[in-house]
Amino acid sequence: MIESLLIDPQLEIKKQETAVGFISHTYQPPREVLIDLSFLGIEHQVKISVAPEFNQRITEQVYKPLFGLGEDENLSPFPPGWVFSCFASLRSYFKLHQPQLWQTFKNRLSITSDKEYTILADPWLHVILPLLPSDDQAMLIELGKQAFKDDFGFDSAGFWLPETAVSFETLALLVQEGYEFVVLRDDQLKLFGEKSRNPNFAQIGELKVLIGNKSLGKAISFNPETTTNADRFAQELANSDNPYRIGISDTEFYGHHGPGRDQFLLRALKTSFKDQQLNLLNVRYGLMAELTQAEVNDGTSWSCDHQLGRWTGKCNCGNNGPPSEAIINERNRLYLGLTANNHEINELLDEKCFGWRNHFIKLILPLRDLILSGQDFVRPFWKNGLASGLDEQQLLLLLAKLETLIGFTSCGWFFGEVNSPEVAIPQSMLDGSTDLLKTK
Ligand SMILES: [Zn+2]
Repeated sequence: MIESLLIDPQLEIKKQETAVGFISHTYQPPREVLIDLSFLGIEHQVKISVAPEFNQRITEQVYKPLFGLGEDENLSPFPPGWVFSCFASLRSYFKLHQPQLWQTFKNRLSITSDKEYTILADPWLHVILPLLPSDDQAMLIELGKQAFKDDFGFDSAGFWLPETAVSFETLALLVQEGYEFVVLRDDQLKLFGEKSRNPNFAQIGELKVLIGNKSLGKAISFNPETTTNADRFAQELANSDNPYRIGISDTEFYGHHGPGRDQFLLRALKTSFKDQQLNLLNVRYGLMAELTQAEVNDGTSWSCDHQLGRWTGKCNCGNNGPPSEAIINERNRLYLGLTANNHEINELLDEKCFGWRNHFIKLILPLRDLILSGQDFVRPFWKNGLASGLDEQQLLLLLAKLETLIGFTSCGWFFGEVNSPEVAIPQSMLDGSTDLLKTK
């Protein structure tokens, strides 16, 4: 209490003009899903298993060192200067398979000051929101918000868009849902009007933006030299005139893609930045400043800025060079197939199931950890659905809706090989929802 009285807010806001820090996105796809209706006498089984052993490996490399107790074995708040997501599908994995880590993570978050500005909320499924109909986006954002609150007991002020994929419409929906800020990369924005002195924040209408720096993010993720020594990294930032000092990357870089870089991140935040007397990112203070007005580049993301063509089969984005024509055609087929099913399901539900979006949220929310972890959730789904007055046909359509939405998981298009395991997600879910639509 006494300490907070000594802080001069104006000074803290001013310090943010030169702040350094990290934004990191923490995520694993739903690696196992099982939808089996044989208990109803209906022959319908959708089963995916996408290298589930990966979660355990990355937990040891990344999540335990960063979110667990670490070396000192004492419960400590998360270090200032770091803003991160912990996506819903990964939280479900933690709850079921890493309960101790999950408890530690939540305990650490609860003692972190400005926790609402430290961890970012999400839309429950890692889908490219702008490619979905507006009502579907709104439903997922609402579901994500309720899931987050249920997991942590508070609402986040900020939101992580999967792949930072953005449109005017999506941003308007975030405002409607009460979010104060969203994370975007600097190349996704046009700044206009008088530039504020603060390069790390901007404002788009009512929504504020925490801006990650593309070149620093790329250097962190793809140039190993950048992150070999945290003290040197901090020194170079201190000696640089460049005011853009917020690196943005996947959290999995720190220890998985970049072995040992978990220690780089912790050293930088706890020691190196302070030694160089650098100002650490504090989003709450940063957002209090008068911010530069900006406009978003509609239809961009951090991994494809061709109107999101990576997920529709309309561009050449790939991880290891341009993908083959066969892969691009397959991306297009999956996108068009899921989109057609989704459209048909929405029309049928609009016709046959009044208030279906609220039913969907209510049915999914309590079962979400089972759904995203390969457990049998359909029995309780069915029981709860019947208890809330829904009939068999409505429940089958709601399951088909769930399948198409899981099918849109962005990783299914991402890795650029027809046989990469994540492709099973859109493929299986497209087949599954097509099958369920036959029962209508
Ligand atoms: Zn692209």
